[in-house]
Amino acid sequence: MSLHQRFWLVLTALVVATVAILAALGDRVFSGAPGPLPSPAGTTAGPSAATAGAAGLGDPYLPEAGGSGYDVQNYDVVVSATGAGDPLNGRTTITATARQDLDSFHLDLFPVATAVTVDGTPATFGQHADNLAVTAVRPDRDRPAIAAGATFTVTVDYAGSPHDVRTPGFRAYYANGDEFVIAGEPAAASLWYPVNDHPRDPATMRFTVTVPDGVEAICAGRLLEHGDSPENADADRWVWQVDAPTVTYATFLGVGQFDVEQGTAGGRPYTYSVSRRLDVADRAAALRWLDRTPKAVKKLEKYLGPYPFSGIGGFVPSVQVEWGGLETVMNPVYHPGMIGDEALLNHELAHMWFGDTVTLYEWNDIFNNESLTTYAEWLTTGSGDAGAKFDRIYHGQADRAAFWAPALSDPGFAGLFVRVYDRGPLVVHALRTRLGDDTFFDLFRTWAQQQGPHSLEDFRRVADDATPDDLTTFFAEWLDQTDRPEATEANGVPR
Ligand SMILES: [Zn+2]
Repeated sequence: MSLHQRFWLVLTALVVATVAILAALGDRVFSGAPGPLPSPAGTTAGPSAATAGAAGLGDPYLPEAGGSGYDVQNYDVVVSATGAGDPLNGRTTITATARQDLDSFHLDLFPVATAVTVDGTPATFGQHADNLAVTAVRPDRDRPAIAAGATFTVTVDYAGSPHDVRTPGFRAYYANGDEFVIAGEPAAASLWYPVNDHPRDPATMRFTVTVPDGVEAICAGRLLEHGDSPENADADRWVWQVDAPTVTYATFLGVGQFDVEQGTAGGRPYTYSVSRRLDVADRAAALRWLDRTPKAVKKLEKYLGPYPFSGIGGFVPSVQVEWGGLETVMNPVYHPGMIGDEALLNHELAHMWFGDTVTLYEWNDIFNNESLTTYAEWLTTGSGDAGAKFDRIYHGQADRAAFWAPALSDPGFAGLFVRVYDRGPLVVHALRTRLGDDTFFDLFRTWAQQQGPHSLEDFRRVADDATPDDLTTFFAEWLDQTDRPEATEANGVPR
């Protein structure tokens, strides 16, 4: 995600609003378990707490997000949508692997579930706000429904009105006329499909969206096909594929009237989509800007190694999203007011590595996403003089005590997307100064290619292992303290 100076005021208002909404909604947004699981009376065998996945992965900032006991491999999302404000209908099939014996588990889903099966057998389920609790049927009373290590499928049928939902943090539903977009971080996917909505559980995805004739449906991923719906003569069908495991907050749905350009550039298929609600000049400017994507990816590959996906893209809706851009996978969503911004394009594309495929373990590891991404943005934008940017911020903010708090290692939910964009890349540049260019750029590239969930502690350890020096104090100064690290060689600040 990228903010922009002019969005910071909006952000402050948002944080205040979010805290107020969370306080007012209490358990309505992130509910607890919907009640005890059914257990057969008079028997000792059968479902027990030991075979129940927890509601939520216990993230320090969003404890109820996701569910424990399984890892999702793939989401096959099939939805039909008409226009802004209308309900949508869906059937999603999740393929997952059990990390423990399971009789029950939890998914995040706001629309109302109407049927659930596990491995083809109808399951019982209960839903409270976005918390869908599923209990599978035991084929044999003495064995759990799903054995640890087994791969299983869950199919959920559902219907609902995503525009009624309020998520923590940034809004996730936006509309302008008939156009609507569901996108946001840290949560948006559960507005339109059942999901283990936490960056610790990346997966591949396929999105099949049926819309009225002549309406476009834009999603994360690569556009595989679009045309008449095979089931309905009055409808069109759009199919998108995400072919490397990625995080669920990096998915989106956009429905409306969009100009869609497809082709191949730099050996990769691209899809650029721009809202027809924008005026003609803006649409042309947006397409010219998106057309710089292959070059930007090539420049990033120099620092980050091979691009992790099979296709590229970009999407400029007309809706006024609350951020400058979002790293929706293979197909970033950009605010229409940011058309032409080189830094933003580089930023969201760098997230294809940092965030989308090298994912967070917990939300308080946000440094790994935004600091490394913003540093890649610094390296690839304009003259690429990261040292000049470091000097400007480090010295320019010297007297502002408030700028140096909170600690980057624990910014709090309200501080998740604030100082990590300026103090974060300072730390990365100081690390570069401390390690020297050869060691630093090796580390930067190796980390960018290390797919899957990683914590900030992992990053500190990997950086420490890259040098004979002990970086414990260096990282404590930059990440754990709430004042400005002194200008010393140990802190990686050139005198
Ligand atoms: Zn970002």
